[in-house]
Amino acid sequence: MDNEFDLIIVGGGIAGSAAALRGAQYEHLRIGWLLGDRHTRKRSRSQWVANIDNMIGIHDGIVRGKLARTLRGPEFKAARETLAHGHEHISTRDIVRNTVERVRDGYPEQVELLEVAATAARKIESGFEVQTGDVAYRAPAMVLATGAMDRQPLIRRADGDEEVHDPSWIYPFANRETVLYCIRCEGHLTTTAPTTVLGHAEAAAQLAMMLHERYGSACSVITNGETPSWSERSSRLLEAYSIVVREERIVDVAGERGDLRGFVLDDGTTVAVRFALVALGLHRVYNDLARQLDAELADPELPEGERHVLINARGETSVPGLFAVGDMAKRDDEPMMKQVYTAQEYAVRAVDTIDARIRQERRRAVLS
Ligand SMILES: Cc1cc2nc3c(=O)[nH]c(=O)nc-3n(C[C@H](O)[C@H](O)[C@H](O)COP(=O)(O)OP(=O)(O)OC[C@H]3O[C@@H](n4cnc5c(N)ncnc54)[C@H](O)[C@@H]3O)c2cc1C
Repeated sequence: MDNEFDLIIVGGGIAGSAAALRGAQYEHLRIGWLLGDRHTRKRSRSQWVANIDNMIGIHDGIVRGKLARTLRGPEFKAARETLAHGHEHISTRDIVRNTVERVRDGYPEQVELLEVAATAARKIESGFEVQTGDVAYRAPAMVLATGAMDRQPLIRRADGDEEVHDPSWIYPFANRETVLYCIRCEGHLTTTAPTTVLGHAEAAAQLAMMLHERYGSACSVITNGETPSWSERSSRLLEAYSIVVREERIVDVAGERGDLRGFVLDDGTTVAVRFALVALGLHRVYNDLARQLDAELADPELPEGERHVLINARGETSVPGLFAVGDMAKRDDEPMMKQVYTAQEYAVRAVDTIDARIRQERRRAVLS
């Protein structure tokens, strides 16, 4: 039957791509890969990362070096000069696009690429059934990789008599690496530069201290109208590090086209910065399918839509055969890991576990 697979992967971001390539390279597996649609793509983190530069291997220097060697000879002098002065960003979109091409061209018999979003999932006797509109797909094992989305800082703008809380101001900066979301990925960009952390909870204080300690960034915190809720100890450390805390509301952003210059506050002053690090937590963890399948979630104190899916060291949820990897997942014995390389690592662990179980089953059948 066409809609039956050994494994269904839901999500066409980094984690889904890593799972799909690994599964495809195990020749015996037949995989249905649901990449999502325009709507799920737009709200995913895989659209936001314009330039990955915290990983070895993902670096344009490798490509440029190889091209320069290929373009030896006087006839390519101009091309080599262009190469030497250029920088080709490698984005999450580039990685996903390249993986989709590799899977489509290299493994057409094994992986069915489905450019649709899963709308529902349920347990069935043979494993799992995933619904996409009126089509259902079934498999004994499933990897969810549907991601999460950060909460954006709102700017209070007066629009006539109404106050407009519009997060769209942030997009030109976020896509150009001046408004940042991940200290492990992008913190180094702020080295010695004036930087502010946008947030009011303990995480904001901790991140401001880390920026100061690690990168020597001249740091401030803007709580955007909220009362700080960090600990007394953190308050003392912020003061000791001369990290200024501003509690006024943000009413405007100075700068344009990604060139951040500062934040205008409602007392008329401007906090001049080159970078801002958003520390407001997650707007949403896309855990809907996991919830429908009764997978256990982390952090019971949070609203359901913001809770990560709990996984073990293999990436498996509390539901046997159901795995969750990438930004949507969390182990309860580790700090949160939400990077490209952690998404890849857990995706591979999940697929390897599924592969091992299928092969063990086969060995038992061979011997019986
Ligand atoms: C601004 C920014 C910069 C970053 N920079 C770096 C960096 O430099 N280095 C680094 O290591 N990490 C970085 N990160 C983190 C990294 O981007 C994430 O850890 C990684 O993209 C997570 O991948 P994911 O596959 O879990 O989720 P996503 O990339 O968000 O992908 C989720 C996928 O699921 C799909 N989907 C959602 N719902 C459904 C559904 N119902 N059915 C089917 N498909 C669905 C979406 O369409 C999407 O394709 C950065 C993050 C941000 C926000």
